[in-house]
Amino acid sequence: MAIVKRKFDVVIVGAGGAGMRAALRLSEAGLKVAVLSKVFPTRSHTVSAQGGIAAPLGNVTEDNWHWHMYDTVKGSDYLGDQDAIEFMCRHASEVVYELEHFGMPFDRLENGKIYQRPFGGQSQNFGGAQATRSCAAADRTGHALLHTLYQRNVSANTQFFVEWMGLDLIRDEQGDVLGVTAMEMETGEVMLLQAKATLFATGGGGRIFQANTNALINTGDGLGMAARAGIPLEDMEFWQFHPTGIHGVGVLISEAVRGEGGYLINKDGERFMERYAPNAKDLASRDVVARAMTIEIKEGRGCGDELDHLLLKLDHLGSEIIKSRLPGIRELAMKFAHADPIHDPIPVVPTAHYMMGGIPTNYYGQVVAPYKTGPEEVVTGFYAVGECACVSVHGANRLGTNSLLDLVVFGRAAANQIIEDLKINPHHKPLPADAADKSLGRLARLENQTDGENVAQVTDALCKTMQTYCGVFRFEDTLLQGVEKIKAVAERVGRTEIKDKSRVFNTARIEALELDNMKEVAVATMVSAEARRESRGAHARDDFPERDDDNWLRHTLFFSEDHRLDYKPVRLKPLTVDSFPPKKRTY
Ligand SMILES: Cc1cc2nc3c(=O)[nH]c(=O)nc-3n(C[C@H](O)[C@H](O)[C@H](O)COP(=O)(O)OP(=O)(O)OC[C@H]3O[C@@H](n4cnc5c(N)ncnc54)[C@H](O)[C@@H]3O)c2cc1C
Repeated sequence: MAIVKRKFDVVIVGAGGAGMRAALRLSEAGLKVAVLSKVFPTRSHTVSAQGGIAAPLGNVTEDNWHWHMYDTVKGSDYLGDQDAIEFMCRHASEVVYELEHFGMPFDRLENGKIYQRPFGGQSQNFGGAQATRSCAAADRTGHALLHTLYQRNVSANTQFFVEWMGLDLIRDEQGDVLGVTAMEMETGEVMLLQAKATLFATGGGGRIFQANTNALINTGDGLGMAARAGIPLEDMEFWQFHPTGIHGVGVLISEAVRGEGGYLINKDGERFMERYAPNAKDLASRDVVARAMTIEIKEGRGCGDELDHLLLKLDHLGSEIIKSRLPGIRELAMKFAHADPIHDPIPVVPTAHYMMGGIPTNYYGQVVAPYKTGPEEVVTGFYAVGECACVSVHGANRLGTNSLLDLVVFGRAAANQIIEDLKINPHHKPLPADAADKSLGRLARLENQTDGENVAQVTDALCKTMQTYCGVFRFEDTLLQGVEKIKAVAERVGRTEIKDKSRVFNTARIEALELDNMKEVAVATMVSAEARRESRGAHARDDFPERDDDNWLRHTLFFSEDHRLDYKPVRLKPLTVDSFPPKKRTY
């Protein structure tokens, strides 16, 4: 097959908040930038972020970046790298003001300043009273952010390839990254995009769980591409289960509801979080609330005929607050739970939401992996930001509204780094003759496979396995079985068949290609979870209920080619301030 080749300075895969923040900086610097996206840019998952973006502006309660840093380190259960966390929190206020100046329509306080609401895990004075740190545009903050960035990119002449799917990373013999192969989803045409710098911003992979809050496109493609190209995946055992997904549907009800004063009750009408987190109550960290809910259900205090969910009550806030601050939430509750929160509580359960792990990077967005000579080196030409990257600022558990912050801080930082790196490496490196072979091989297999299994059936088996064997609480026997089961599913992924071989708008082919990526994410998650014999943040093991800093204060690296695990130390030393040493975490 003759393949079209195009050359750019920078190719970005992903047009969510992270990809578009980076693209904007690069286009404004005069570089030729291509941004690929499976969907129209403003439909990326960032659009559904509801609650807000964290920054210690201090508009409502006194605040500063050092307190924000402490909360983030504690929230991460001390697995976050403190240099990166300091970097993010120090830049938070600046990037939010920058967004304001780009025209992002934040809500306002009476005095005209940006509106802020409290979120879980936010404190004043290193663990004191609740802080109010999340800047919001009603309950549609991600929508406002993404549209603002898209419009700025259009005016900066960023070139978008809409409904183009990145297939595989191109590396040369030394392992340097030279670009990607991609497929136009409408026509099935394959193209090779050559770049001096390749940036992944492909978002999360929550679709590997049966019940999740993620968009259909969140299939972990960047992780799949990186894993197939020999890059390890970091900390994949850590998945955040959001306390409040709508029961039976998975659609997210933002933590903003609890930030505005809503709370959870069990079948006896008891506000049970008071027992689990006497101080922070419903605004304890997400892992804490999700576990408390799971225990309530397990011990028979769940609601409904099946006692299988809990209720989120907010009628006491009054219709005015609900209509002005939480209009999108009300709509979702009415549509998906047939409950108008002005009168009725919303039925909720913990639901897979956010991937703390990902492609290992430093806080300049450079991918760091075993490479030419050492165990940890910057991979020339390769960058990753946003949910697909593991910087790691979220460690074992992310605090609400810290992700949107991560996107803009590291999106901008990676772009700045690329600009510097291209001064040193100003030319395209020659493409190897086999640059597209891996992708063409995958497509040819789908073309030629007969008597294979249906893609949807295998995807379903993968999601069920993850849900059953790797949920909120993890058990030794289920993890051991889970590893065997997910490996068996992975075998089946290599034998799927698509009946319709036509190229035009072939969603079956796209789902098969996505499943290749979901497989990488799922296997990495299960194997890493089985290996980590402690409980930390979102990884809660029944057989090892305590955190074990002596043995496990370290990051996991999973290598796809031989399912090998390796580990690297947590960077406990911040950039300028004293380290926050690990302490027992209570809320
Ligand atoms: C329902 C919901 C609510 C949330 N609310 C908040 C909140 O209030 N505050 C907060 O901080 N965080 C929130 N989060 C988390 C946060 O929104 C996400 O972590 C973040 O938006 C991810 O942004 P991103 O730029 O990394 O990726 P995304 O916005 O997910 O974008 C990924 C992009 O990659 C593209 N892509 C993927 N694969 C390919 C491929 N193979 N080829 C081409 N393109 C590809 C997609 O088309 C898309 O453009 C929420 C998440 C969810 C799911």
